[in-house]
Amino acid sequence: MKIVFATGNPGKLREASEILGEGFELVTPAEAGIPEDIPETGETLRANSLQKAQYIYEKTGLDCFADDTGLEVEILAGAPGVHTARYGGPQKNPADNIARLLREMACREREASVAREYGFNTPHATRRARFRTSVTLIIGGEKHFFDGIMEGKIAYTKAGKGGFGYDPVFIPDGYDVTAAEITEEQKNAISHRGKALRAMADYLKSR
Ligand code: IMP
Repeated sequence: MKIVFATGNPGKLREASEILGEGFELVTPAEAGIPEDIPETGETLRANSLQKAQYIYEKTGLDCFADDTGLEVEILAGAPGVHTARYGGPQKNPADNIARLLREMACREREASVAREYGFNTPHATRRARFRTSVTLIIGGEKHFFDGIMEGKIAYTKAGKGGFGYDPVFIPDGYDVTAAEITEEQKNAISHRGKALRAMADYLKSR
């Protein structure tokens, strides 16, 4: 089936085509006549994915889906969360995003270690984190939601050339290398986006 995927990110588009497989032909917003940036001003991942899918549907009337992803880091009390894309600045530059993430985590770890030196019972900080994806599908005008999570931890330095975004510092559970060092197939099998999009594909096939 032909379906618009509300993304301009080539890494995401490649992953989604791989995950959904041959039965799906993904159309980009630009190909569907929407060259502009799609607004993304919600306060939650679901609100953002709904906003993006609704924007495409209202402009084109085509079946479509959108995803929104957040990275939740334990020592940062769940940040950057819904602010993940612009964590390092408005340009959404992955290197800036990762630099800020490592900086903020190092600060929190130093604070916790100083607190312990002064006798406070501060628990040892963990580097645990998870990616969470919310997908909104609009088909025949009806909305459906699918979620996926990938658990793991944040590395101290970047490694690997694969994937995109924060992958060079995200070590998925079950691996001792980053998501940028495993194959696309390995990542898709365990990723937040893989889980959410497979659930969406199962739903579409069952209709
Ligand atoms: P969005 O869903 O495109 O708004 O993505 C939010 C942020 O999460 C962006 O900075 C992406 O680069 C990042 N991101 C989304 N999915 C992944 C992933 O699978 N690996 C690493 N970073 C990701």
